[in-house]
Amino acid sequence: MKDARSEKVRIDANRLSNIERGLIVPTVEEKNKIIEVLEYPISLEVNEERATARRDISMKAMKTIKDKTNARDSMECPLCKGVLHYTVAALNGHVHGKCETENCLGWME
Ligand SMILES: [Zn+2]
Repeated sequence: MKDARSEKVRIDANRLSNIERGLIVPTVEEKNKIIEVLEYPISLEVNEERATARRDISMKAMKTIKDKTNARDSMECPLCKGVLHYTVAALNGHVHGKCETENCLGWME
């Protein structure tokens, strides 16, 4: 039997980024590829509903941060109530945020 590893599976950078951010649900093949190649600790139990809820929370948090003027601060994570650290780039307003809780919110825009 041939090596059954998912070498045919290709995930483009945008899609991977969205998967990492929990915005879209990867297919089984994609999950396997991510785990195998990137050793990325992705949840196998993620489902459509949770991903949608997470995306909404994430978008809300990002909007809140964008309204702030401090370049570097932290806030209560809307998902786990932990500490969400963020930075806002003065130049272009891009937001980089990361929750202290593993596998919780985190994004770079
Ligand atoms: Zn969190």
